[in-house]
Amino acid sequence: MLAQQGDFASHLEHLASVGAVGTEVREPADLNDLDGLILPGGESTTISKGLERDDLAERVIEFGREGRPILGTCAGMILLARDHLGLLDISVKRNAFGRQRASFEEELEIPAVAPGNSFPCIFIRAPWVEQSGPEVEVLGELDGHPIAVRQGSILALSFHPELSDDDRVHGAFASECREARSSGDR
Ligand code: GLN
Repeated sequence: MLAQQGDFASHLEHLASVGAVGTEVREPADLNDLDGLILPGGESTTISKGLERDDLAERVIEFGREGRPILGTCAGMILLARDHLGLLDISVKRNAFGRQRASFEEELEIPAVAPGNSFPCIFIRAPWVEQSGPEVEVLGELDGHPIAVRQGSILALSFHPELSDDDRVHGAFASECREARSSGDR
């Protein structure tokens, strides 16, 4: 769990409630024994500066390229895009839903992310995906714009699953991390 800025504490609570142990990542060595990484929402410019300052950017890129699962939410999606870490072949539009819809909740069907019923998606000055490359799979859309995408083991969501009391996204991510661990050599 990247813990430089943003709402990492809520992510840690959700991980605990699905039986996963989350730790705070503040320096490169913190990533060594992790099965997965969450890049939280917050302020993408601030988090990006923190990644550079703490020499974490290169290490996070390496972590993703090794095929270890990464979940980016809101600002985390922005950081995964081409203009920042480049782990996802997407370009994003920041604060895309505009002033009228700065902060809102929408029940959306995103079966690949939250199996079962619709998921209560909380959007806060959220980005959407503007353009994506051929390896990127669009898992969910709102107003005709992708808000959930996957490329290999990297998943990005425009909304904040950690702010709802629904644990399905964290449950699915924790399972993916366990599977990646058992199929890898770590
Ligand atoms: N709008 C913010 C940014 O561009 C992201 C908002 C969020 O993470 N809730 O960094």
